[in-house]
Amino acid sequence: MSIIRKDNAQPAPKGAIAQRGADSYAIVTRLPSGIISADQLESLAQAIRKYDIPIAKLTSGQRVALLGIKGEDVPGVQSCLSMGEGRAVKHGMHYVQACPGTAACGYGQQDSLSLGARLEALFSGLDLPAKVKVGVSGCPMCCGESYVRDIGLVGRKSGWTVVFGGNAGGRPRVGDELAGGLDADQALHLVGKALEHYRANAKPCQRTARFVEARGIESVRAALGLEQPPGNVSGNVSGKPPAKTAAKPAPSEG
Ligand code: SF4
Repeated sequence: MSIIRKDNAQPAPKGAIAQRGADSYAIVTRLPSGIISADQLESLAQAIRKYDIPIAKLTSGQRVALLGIKGEDVPGVQSCLSMGEGRAVKHGMHYVQACPGTAACGYGQQDSLSLGARLEALFSGLDLPAKVKVGVSGCPMCCGESYVRDIGLVGRKSGWTVVFGGNAGGRPRVGDELAGGLDADQALHLVGKALEHYRANAKPCQRTARFVEARGIESVRAALGLEQPPGNVSGNVSGKPPAKTAAKPAPSEG
C-alpha cells in the first residue's frame, strides 16, 4: 500500500500526506532514533481508537505511519498526538535511525542514541536537493544500516567513522568512508560539511549515491579537505553545520 496519493489533485492538510485514492491521508510521526515514550504510545492508541484509523505501521525509518485517515479527521488526529510529524515526501533529512549502541547493546562501542539525537536536532529541517536518510550504528555490525544510508555513522573503539553516499533502493550503493577515529563533535562537523557540499553541488532530486557516482568520491573528499584514502581524523573536519535555507522544489526519488 502506497502512502503517497497518485490520483487526487486536492492539496493535503498541513502535516498530512495524501494517499492513493479518495479522501484518505497519512501522518508519519517524528520519533528521533525510534525512541518513544509511554505518553506518546498512549496518544497514538487514543488517536487510532478515536478516529478508527485502519492501519498503524512501523516504518523502516523507525517511525509510526498512521494510514487511511479521513480528511476531516486529520486536525483531530494531529491534536491527539504528543509528537511532531516527520517528513515523508519533501526533500531534506527525513529521519535518523539509530541502534541502541552502548545504551543497551553488549556489542556497542559508541553511544549511537545520543549521536542520533544530536544529528536530528542539528540537521532536521535542513533543505537539501533530495531526501537524506541517516543511519547510526554503535559498532561495525551496522544494525543501523549505516553503509546503505545517505549519511552513515559507525562506532568503533577508536571513535566514529562517517560514511557518505549509501543507498538501499532499486540502485543500491555501499557508501564511502570519509574519515574515521572521530569523536562525536568531529563526526557532526564532518556530516555538516558533507551536507553543505552536497547541497551546494548536487542537482535537484539527485540522491547522495548518484551525486557521488557522478562526481567521484575522490572529488568529494578533496572538496571536504579530507585525506585520500581516508584515515583517522585530523583537524580538517572542523566547521559549523550548514545554515537552514528556503526549500528547493521537486519530488524525490525512491
Ligand atoms: S550495531 Fe552493534 S551496537 Fe548497534 S545494535 Fe547492532 S550489535 Fe548492537
